[in-house]
Amino acid sequence: MNYLSTRGHPDRKRFCEILLEGLAPDGGLYLPEHYPQVDTATLARWRELPYAELAFEILSLYIDDIPPADLKAICARTYTAEVFGSDEIVPLRELEDGVYLEALSNGPTLAFKDMAMQLLGNLFEYELARRGAELNILGATSGDTGSAAEYAMRGKKGVRVFMTSPDGRMSPFQQAQMFSLQDQNIHNIAISGVFDDCQDIVKAVSNDLGFKRKYRIGTVNSINWARLLAQVVYYFAGYFQATAGNDKPVSFTVPSGNFGNVCAGHVARMMGLPIQTLVVATNENDVLDEFFRTGIYRVRAAADTHETSSPSMDISKASNFERFVFDLVGRDAGKLRSLFVDDLGRQGRFDLSADPAFRQAAERFGFKSSRSTHADRLATIRDTDKRFATLVDPHTADGLKAAREHLAPGVPMVVLETALPIKFAATLVEALGHEPARPVRFEGIEALPKRVVKLPADAEAVKAYIAQNCD
Ligand SMILES: *Cc1c(COP(=O)(O)O)cnc(C)c1O
Repeated sequence: MNYLSTRGHPDRKRFCEILLEGLAPDGGLYLPEHYPQVDTATLARWRELPYAELAFEILSLYIDDIPPADLKAICARTYTAEVFGSDEIVPLRELEDGVYLEALSNGPTLAFKDMAMQLLGNLFEYELARRGAELNILGATSGDTGSAAEYAMRGKKGVRVFMTSPDGRMSPFQQAQMFSLQDQNIHNIAISGVFDDCQDIVKAVSNDLGFKRKYRIGTVNSINWARLLAQVVYYFAGYFQATAGNDKPVSFTVPSGNFGNVCAGHVARMMGLPIQTLVVATNENDVLDEFFRTGIYRVRAAADTHETSSPSMDISKASNFERFVFDLVGRDAGKLRSLFVDDLGRQGRFDLSADPAFRQAAERFGFKSSRSTHADRLATIRDTDKRFATLVDPHTADGLKAAREHLAPGVPMVVLETALPIKFAATLVEALGHEPARPVRFEGIEALPKRVVKLPADAEAVKAYIAQNCD
């Protein structure tokens, strides 16, 4: 399998080459040259497989530069009941007639990002050892990504993590999760500033090509193809659990920010998994809902990006969206460039409302969308607690609300649970008047010793810190 750039760069690459890279050299995102097709017989065979073996089968279609036995061992090591809390790895439960919750948040950091990041940690360690190389991961987090990356990379040979976060702005639980890690290869950097300052620092350091090369700086952000690929697996696993051996379609609703999670659903659908509808659920930061309603994609300024109670979806632009638009415009890299480089670059927006391609977003690719507000989240959290004795986190609540707006008779609707409620306790307290239960392993973590340095919002200070800690 070869990978291409959405912006038309002539080079073709193999999986392990793009594994450690971010953007393609022309600023595009990597995609496979084609989507391998899965027929009914294959689906029937895969239905019986444990999660790690299903992951191996799917990954094998996209990875041909790791020997199969090694890839199989990596999958077996990653998706274990010890790490994810159950043999099913992503257990499905029916909430009400035809509406299901797929649990993706029982990994080490209690958010769905563990599903991909745990695999990435093992793939990185494998590939770096094979090359005799090292990597220093520099990241910015407002919560979920940073902790998932740190728990995936802790103790891994050849990898260090330097994770910036806005000082004092994560939830106490999220801070404690990250800062209590004592592993020598994990570095928490609290920046006096907001999340955007952290992102600017990461950009500034990455743009210093000399520094980047000398200190082998890499990232683990959501545009990484390996993360997306790992997420494709749980759409298959969810499908198998929601159906009983027939080829009937199911729909998925996905709480969305950077469009990484739901883009994996798009890939699964392109492979032939019988998915009827992919519902994109957004909060007040409704860039994506606006596009699927109107055909206009309009990036927001920092000042127009709201701080909401589903903070992991507070985005001004959706960094994986370019992948879907590439398929939407028939993989025409020239057209893609004119949208993402010319139109977005000049006016911060592009408009496909009059383009026949836009109609295909729903008709051919199955996309629908909804938007929620803080009041909706509180109402959904209360309602789900009252009627089903189930606590959901604010992001999953956005998903549930959206799902109910797009139900179709006879088609199971699977809502992806993207985090456990304890990560966002303040909103649960606001809705219900009490804290959600926390898994035993997290009891008292706020009181543990913290490993974190505080630095000013200054790329030079961060560079100096990296240099000091890289021998
Ligand atoms: C990251 C995250 C999202 C958004 O996922 P994308 O892949 O960026 O669309 C939603 N919910 C939670 C809890 C998250 O951590």
